[in-house]
Amino acid sequence: MDTGIGDGTRAVRAGLPKPVKYEPPLPGPVFAAHYHLPGEPTGPYTYGRDTNPTWTHLEQAIGELEAPGEAVETVVFSSGMAAISAVLFSRLRAGDTVVLPSDGYQALPLVREQLEAYGIEVRTARTGGDAQLTALEGARLLWIETPSNPELDVCDVRRLVAAAHATGALVAVDNTLATPLAQRPLALGADFSVASDTKGMTGHGDLLLGHVTCRDAELAAGVRHWRKVVGAIPGPMETWLAHRSLATLHLRIERQCTNALAVARALGGRPEVTGLRYPGLPDDPSHRLATAQMRRYGGVLSFVLPDREHAERFLDALRLVDDATSFGGVRSSAERRGRWGGDAVPEGFIRLSAGAEDTDDLVADVLRALDEAAA
Ligand SMILES: *Cc1c(COP(=O)(O)O)cnc(C)c1O
Repeated sequence: MDTGIGDGTRAVRAGLPKPVKYEPPLPGPVFAAHYHLPGEPTGPYTYGRDTNPTWTHLEQAIGELEAPGEAVETVVFSSGMAAISAVLFSRLRAGDTVVLPSDGYQALPLVREQLEAYGIEVRTARTGGDAQLTALEGARLLWIETPSNPELDVCDVRRLVAAAHATGALVAVDNTLATPLAQRPLALGADFSVASDTKGMTGHGDLLLGHVTCRDAELAAGVRHWRKVVGAIPGPMETWLAHRSLATLHLRIERQCTNALAVARALGGRPEVTGLRYPGLPDDPSHRLATAQMRRYGGVLSFVLPDREHAERFLDALRLVDDATSFGGVRSSAERRGRWGGDAVPEGFIRLSAGAEDTDDLVADVLRALDEAAA
C-alpha cells in the first residue's frame, strides 16, 4: 500500500506513541517482571513473559516497516532462531511435511534434526532456480530464504507462494539479509515475514533479537503463544536499543547498499576473484529476479579467493573490515565462511558485509588488502 511517505520519514517515527506533554518521544525501557493487577487478570500488561510495553512499541514499529499502512501483527523474540523456531514449531505437527532451503542459514540443519525427532518430514531444495517448487507436494509449510545466506541466490517469492498456496501450504520468508527496507515478504504474498534483527535491522552488532510479522491474527496468535510457552522473550534493554536503532535504518541500508555495490564492482576487476555474487550487479545471475521483487539489493556480497591461505592473508590485511561473523552492521565485516564447516562452500569463500564507512575508504582498503594477499 502506498502511504505517501518515504522509508526515511517512516523509519524515524516508526512505532512512536502519540506525543504526551513532558514525556520523551520514545519511552524508556520498562523493566518489569509483573505489573500492578488488581481484580480480574486481564491485559494489556499482566506478566513479564506475556507482554511488555517496550515490546509493544517495537512491534508496532516493525509492523509499520514490514507492511506500511496495513494492519499486521508482529511478535518480537530474544533472537532470530527463537523467531524461526516459533513459526516452525507452532505450526508443524507429527506427520506434517515442511520444505526448507538446502542452502539456508547454517543453523537450519540443527532445526531439521529437531523437527525430524518430532516426526515431521523435512524436504530440502536449493534456493536458486526456484528448486523448492519440486518439493511442495503435500507440504504444510514452505520456508524460503532469499537472498540466501551466504551464497546470495534469489528465488521468485511470488511464484513459490502461488504454488505453495495452491497445494495448501503456508509460506514463511527469512528476510534477515534484506530487511523490510529492501524486501517486503508480506507484499509478495508470504504468510510470515521472519528475521534475525541481530543483523542489518538493528545494525550495531550489540544485541540479539528476532521477529515474526503476519497479517493473519490466528497465525500471529500461534507464534505469540509459542513465545509464552518457551519463554524466548527479548530483554527490555535490547528491545529499546533495537527501536532506537530503527530510526537510522534507512541511512544505514542506503550506505551499505552503495558500499556493497562499489566493493562488488572493484572485486569484479580482479583476476584472483571468482564466484563473485551480489544481486545488485547487473550481470549477477540473481539480478533480474532481485530487481523484480526487492526494493534494494542489500549490503552483503560473496566471492572466492584461490585458496584458504590466500583468503586468510586477505582478511588479515584488511584494516577497515573486521574479521568477524554476522553481517549488516555499521562497521564492515568479512569472514572465511568455510571455517565454520556448516556451509557447502569452497575454502577460499568469503562473505563480506559492507558497513557505513565512506565508500572510497572502504574500496581502497579492500583493494589494498587484495594486493597484499596476492604479493
Ligand atoms: C543470523 C541469522 C539467523 C539467526 O539469527 P540469530 O539472531 O543469530 O538467532 C537466521 N537466519 C539468517 C538468514 C541469519 O543470517
